[in-house]
Amino acid sequence: MDVTHQRTLRNRISCTGIGLHSGLPVAMTLHPALPDTGIIFRRTDVAESESLVRANRESLSGSKLCTTVANEFGTSVATIEHLMAALAGCAVDNVLIELDGAEVPIMDGSAEPFVLLLENAGMIEQDAPRQVVRVLKRIEVTDGVSSMVIEPNADFVIDFEINFENTMVSRQRRSYRDQDASFKDDIGKARTFGFAEDADALRSAGLALGGSLDNAVVVDGAEILNVGGLRYDDEFVRHKVLDCIGDMYLAGGPLMGKITAIRSGHALNHQLLVALFADPDAWVTVDAMPSVSDPQAAPEILAAASA
Ligand SMILES: [Zn+2]
Repeated sequence: MDVTHQRTLRNRISCTGIGLHSGLPVAMTLHPALPDTGIIFRRTDVAESESLVRANRESLSGSKLCTTVANEFGTSVATIEHLMAALAGCAVDNVLIELDGAEVPIMDGSAEPFVLLLENAGMIEQDAPRQVVRVLKRIEVTDGVSSMVIEPNADFVIDFEINFENTMVSRQRRSYRDQDASFKDDIGKARTFGFAEDADALRSAGLALGGSLDNAVVVDGAEILNVGGLRYDDEFVRHKVLDCIGDMYLAGGPLMGKITAIRSGHALNHQLLVALFADPDAWVTVDAMPSVSDPQAAPEILAAASA
């Protein structure tokens, strides 16, 4: 999507659901926000002075099976990644997200309900240039057999490979190029997934208390337990791309860079973000420009260049 101006919502919009890990009900309202606000959560169930939590790389506080952000008072918001992916996919820069609990509702386990919410609210361009983060240097992080590389590229590309050996998920690989793909159709509908044999251990650890066949694909041996099966043949790797898009949007804007991920998850996604921004020579923030492959925009670029 070629977006050169910041965007926000036209109207506010609400939904309700449950937290995947807490299992608790939560109500969420998305509000339009001024240019350069960024993405900010407001917890309405805590003291107002401690209620604001920014969704950016500085506020990353946890990566245990989900992405959590927190402020200096310890107020946190968990499982933000699918909402973040929808905001990235719909190119929304500025939004205030009110929640009456500590976790974003899981909805159906994909980003699609959030995309529909944003579409229903409507999205408008604002009178401020969009900021993108241009990657200038190759950065790599590894953890055992998992690895992630980001390197300079003209647009945002993710090449993701997963390998759940000895399961029906097995090896899957997917490439996503922001300029060509439809986030909503190609990635947004892919649901989170888990293995039936892990369910008890997760619950005794106080995780996935809200997890069910309504919000996750559950794999049991060679079978998918969900009625209706998969939404895509390779729904698993598409969901990993979705998580990666959501996590990378914590950069503070869209990235101009190519990510190559092997068996990565939230923890390594976060490590890559930290490593990238720890090196001041590895990135620069620039105003978004229309891509030259866009025939509508190309004459303007040429005119600007010769002016
Ligand atoms: Zn996910």
